[in-house]
Amino acid sequence: MTNIVVIGAGYSGLVAAHRLARRTDARVTLVNAAPDFVERVRLHQHAAGENLRVRPLAESVRGTGIELVIGWVRAIDPARKEIDVDGRVIGYDTLVYALGSVADDHGVPGVAENAHAVAGHADATRLRDLLPTKGTVTVVGAGLTGVEVATELAEQHPNLHVRVVAGHAPGSSLSANARRHLGRVFNRLGIEVRTGARVAKVLADSVVLTDCDELPTDITVWTTGFRVSPLAKEAGIRTDRDGRIVVDETQRSVSHPDIYAIGDSAVVRINGQELRMACATAEPMAEYTAKAIAARLRNQEPKPFGYRYYLQCISLGRKDALVQLVDAMDRPKKTVITGRVGALIKEGIVRGAGWTALR
Ligand SMILES: Cc1cc2nc3c(=O)[nH]c(=O)nc-3n(C[C@H](O)[C@H](O)[C@H](O)COP(=O)(O)OP(=O)(O)OC[C@H]3O[C@@H](n4cnc5c(N)ncnc54)[C@H](O)[C@@H]3O)c2cc1C
Repeated sequence: MTNIVVIGAGYSGLVAAHRLARRTDARVTLVNAAPDFVERVRLHQHAAGENLRVRPLAESVRGTGIELVIGWVRAIDPARKEIDVDGRVIGYDTLVYALGSVADDHGVPGVAENAHAVAGHADATRLRDLLPTKGTVTVVGAGLTGVEVATELAEQHPNLHVRVVAGHAPGSSLSANARRHLGRVFNRLGIEVRTGARVAKVLADSVVLTDCDELPTDITVWTTGFRVSPLAKEAGIRTDRDGRIVVDETQRSVSHPDIYAIGDSAVVRINGQELRMACATAEPMAEYTAKAIAARLRNQEPKPFGYRYYLQCISLGRKDALVQLVDAMDRPKKTVITGRVGALIKEGIVRGAGWTALR
């Protein structure tokens, strides 16, 4: 019997494991660090104090035939086709690599010691536990995660002064209509924005900019991007300079054909453009990869992976959101849906993503 091992049970790994168990006769083993599925796209809500539902992986895989192993993947040996999970060796015929990503501090001094992230459950919990009842929160980064974090904290904690510090204006990749709405929401929530800023270092009680300006803060949240696990690179699997696995048009590693990579861990280009790290791209990659592996087990060659963008959805607290319509290449169109309707659409998409992964 073919052994398929999926490492990482986030959005992509969990979808892949379920679809593989359904579509193939292989033995499917799913390895994850923690026993519960983490809805990463809600971690800013968790950090702001909302109690998220606990979703045990054991419940998700019950009755599917998937063997669940809870543990930390320490190494991959592609020559022996083995992985090391906390010292236990597990062999594979096909490996699906879905280890996601963590916050990237870009090597800025003091971030690891003095700033908090929302990229993982432990990070978001630490931020939630240390959030002061009053004072200033400085959110570094004004990309989509920074905007979601800043608005959520400002709405849930009106006694806090929320400041966003970034090189560019919040949501600079969005349409003019979207940016106008964002401006109104930031005003309503009293969020201060400091643009044109580069952070030189983070201290316990201030953020120091490269122009030597020092911004006093009670707590700092770091949201400037994600980086991936070094495991693939350490194993000699071909990666790009950021450590993401380089795959062919069927999500298969270009250096190791028995390894597939999906989600944030894989660098995928469609029409020459790199797909962004997103739940919105991770789940379709996983659905596709399960089909591709199943086809190859039947000695059929799968069609290449195809993807197009439709929307970007950004929450702005619990009562507002921005649904930005985009073209196939992720470029913003004029149309945006905002307010309660936007919030309902965003909530529906987040629920749908969790539902797709868990079932
Ligand atoms: C606050 C926030 C908001 C976001 N909002 C959106 C959004 O609105 N829309 C959107 O499309 N995307 C959003 N994203 C991005 C999205 O969450 C990620 O792109 C998505 O989770 C990637 O899925 P994945 O399967 O690659 O990785 P993950 O979901 O991160 O899963 C990786 C899994 O691997 C496990 N793992 C990692 N290393 C090891 C190891 N060595 N051993 C064992 N297990 C390991 C982890 O514990 C985890 O369970 C958001 C992210 C954050 C942090």
